[in-house]
Amino acid sequence: MALRSWCAILAFNLMVPVFSWGQTPFNHLDANGDGYLSPQEFKGPPMAFNRLDRNHDGRISFDEAEGSPLREQKGGPREQLQTTPQSKTGRQEASASATAAATRPLIFIDTHNHLVGKAGPGARRSGGEGPAEMALRSMNANGIKLSLIMPMPQGTEQPHRLYVDDILPYVQQYPDRFAVLGGGDTLNVTIQESVKSGQLTDQMIRRFDSDADALVKKGIVGFGEMTAEHVSMRSDHPYVAAAPDHTLFLRLADLAAKHNLPIDFHMESVPEDMPLPAHLDQANNPKVLKANIPAFERLLDHNPKANIVWVHMGWDNTGKRTVAQTRQLLGKHPNLYVSLRVASGMQAKRIERATFPLDDQGRLKADWLALFKEFPDRFLIGSDEIIKSGDDHPSADSITSTMSMIRQLPEDLQKAIGIDNPQRLYRLKK
Ligand SMILES: [Zn+2]
Repeated sequence: MALRSWCAILAFNLMVPVFSWGQTPFNHLDANGDGYLSPQEFKGPPMAFNRLDRNHDGRISFDEAEGSPLREQKGGPREQLQTTPQSKTGRQEASASATAAATRPLIFIDTHNHLVGKAGPGARRSGGEGPAEMALRSMNANGIKLSLIMPMPQGTEQPHRLYVDDILPYVQQYPDRFAVLGGGDTLNVTIQESVKSGQLTDQMIRRFDSDADALVKKGIVGFGEMTAEHVSMRSDHPYVAAAPDHTLFLRLADLAAKHNLPIDFHMESVPEDMPLPAHLDQANNPKVLKANIPAFERLLDHNPKANIVWVHMGWDNTGKRTVAQTRQLLGKHPNLYVSLRVASGMQAKRIERATFPLDDQGRLKADWLALFKEFPDRFLIGSDEIIKSGDDHPSADSITSTMSMIRQLPEDLQKAIGIDNPQRLYRLKK
């Protein structure tokens, strides 16, 4: 094949003097280390570039290069790269063999992802792979050892509801690679019921408590994904909002403190009432977004022992989630954590550049780096991949863009944000 022989020549020429063990031609060509090959970095024929750039976003991701000579590993034993020894018993074999194909050491913890679809053999298409195997493939390519998975924050009338019981089997199947959060399918729905009906009945409160209890017994490592402000992106995707200081959110904070389980919290930033941004103009969204930051601060203050992870910094849809705002809130509330998700592909084209962490060359902005250095113990990786068998979700590959930012950080910050903080906060075994 023309592409193959061209790549082999290119890879050979580049590799001989400089390749370190286990590096791929992809890593070598990726001069700025952002996890993508631009047409300039690729250096090959445009036709080959276009073929590899499967989603046509103008760059080749590490995942898109899979199966091409760009991903062929030369120069040494793969074991060199493994820092996570995998046991080879029973069902973990699939995980171990997926690990063997990895090109990056598996060291990081990604605290926010969704696997959609029921687990188990029935979930796999004949000859294909299920969501867990797809997730493992992108985790391996990106150096992720452990991924925290959870149901999305759902409303009362959501089609295709995803339950924690659908994803728990993934954790049982690959206990070294996944852990689970719960509540988006139950606790969040009860909050929405209360918001919609305008009342909070004893029965709702009892159900809320017993659902939380059941989740704790199932071995969750946190409550999530919960939401106070989730804008609709498509007509089949509802707008889901509630005041962050709703009685049930305050109750959840007390439960979180009691069980020492963090809350994974999705909320667009709205410091004061504002008109709906033009790019969100969509039937399900209200014309005016109501201020939520003051009520969010009341939630944070309600129980200082409840740790709250405000997710998706780096994917800002209102243009208000600034470095200055995050600095101020982190300074005021020691129980606030922030997880990072760098928008990619089509999503990156629609977000506000001013509050995006990377400049036009894909380099981390200086004010973001300064913020991370100021609060090294308060950030986490939360790439928010939505992995669905046989489907290209718009969030696909946010893991690659998020990790490309993490890899631009100094090593001590990579370790704090990618390993130490999540281990401590979610009390994960080392
Ligand atoms: Zn979310």
